[in-house]
Amino acid sequence: MPSHRPDQAVRLALELAELGWHILPLSPTSKRPLANCPDCRDTTTHAIERCVCIPAGRLCHGVRAATIDPNRITRWWNEHPDAIPGIAAGPSHLVLIDLDTHADQPPADPAAELLPGIDLAAKNIPAEQLADIRSGRDVLLLLAKLRGGPRPWPTGPEHQAVVVTTPSGGRHLWYRAPPGIDLRQAIGELGWQIDIKAGWSYGIAPSALTRRGPYTVLAGDPARPGRMPAWLEHEVRRAASRRALPKGLPKPLPTQVRPSGQAGPSAYLTTVIERGAAELTRLHDGRQRALSALAYKAGGLLAWSGLPRSDVETRLIDIGTASGLPDRLARRVVTRAIANGVARPLPEPGRKA
Ligand SMILES: [Zn+2]
Ligand SMILES: [Zn+2]
Repeated sequence: MPSHRPDQAVRLALELAELGWHILPLSPTSKRPLANCPDCRDTTTHAIERCVCIPAGRLCHGVRAATIDPNRITRWWNEHPDAIPGIAAGPSHLVLIDLDTHADQPPADPAAELLPGIDLAAKNIPAEQLADIRSGRDVLLLLAKLRGGPRPWPTGPEHQAVVVTTPSGGRHLWYRAPPGIDLRQAIGELGWQIDIKAGWSYGIAPSALTRRGPYTVLAGDPARPGRMPAWLEHEVRRAASRRALPKGLPKPLPTQVRPSGQAGPSAYLTTVIERGAAELTRLHDGRQRALSALAYKAGGLLAWSGLPRSDVETRLIDIGTASGLPDRLARRVVTRAIANGVARPLPEPGRKA
């Protein structure tokens, strides 16, 4: 393990960048991307396509700013020496399988909820086997067994992930992204306590040191992350492929107001979210409920808005944590409520029956 030298973070960032891992600085307290400048923070008027900060090498927009440029990285860490190196998954051509171990209660109906989309009741898995499941690793092993695959941590060097233990006892498996497919972040969609970080999402760098402990590399080589075994790649595609918009819905619009002054669907939803955010920061009680209601509404408008789900999720989680909710709780509230909202789309605003 590297020692706690003050330059450990930037040295790690530079080493990984040299291997093509795209780096972004994360807050040492929240482990989320550092804050945007005030212009970039105003998502009601700011269009990322026209952002001047990213080309100028500023760190606004987190993963979008991620880079392998050593000068940029050195400058960021000169300004934020405590920052934790984060890895932007998509730009680095990586997929992170994030296996959690929380003290959370296991799902009420394990046969239906451990592996969403797979009915375990129909697979004759003994109930006591399901009752023993405590972590994302257990769920991934179950999935591997169901799919007839080898263990999720196969020995063949071509499938050797960069395996990392996290301070909370979880595991990170960094794999080379399958070519020619557009993956997105999928929180809990593959399995209970399994998150897929891909596309415009990020994870903490292998070997990073945080206030809660080190992210220790157990196996694998960051210079040569292996490919996922075929069964796992298939499951990851199923859970995290970017879905095309349903037919008949309006095309995505840039996040801005049309010349007529009338807001387009994406701007409409953005406004709903930002108004909700402003209200949330004024609340003392009931923030969790308010965040859930806001995420539910956003989910209901999501398909119509054309905004990418991962962007909306990320923004809502940021809003939740900014209001003072713990990161983990904000994430759980938002992903659940969005999923519920998506399942019950709202009528197009202004055209209510
Ligand atoms: Zn900016
Ligand atoms: Zn910007």
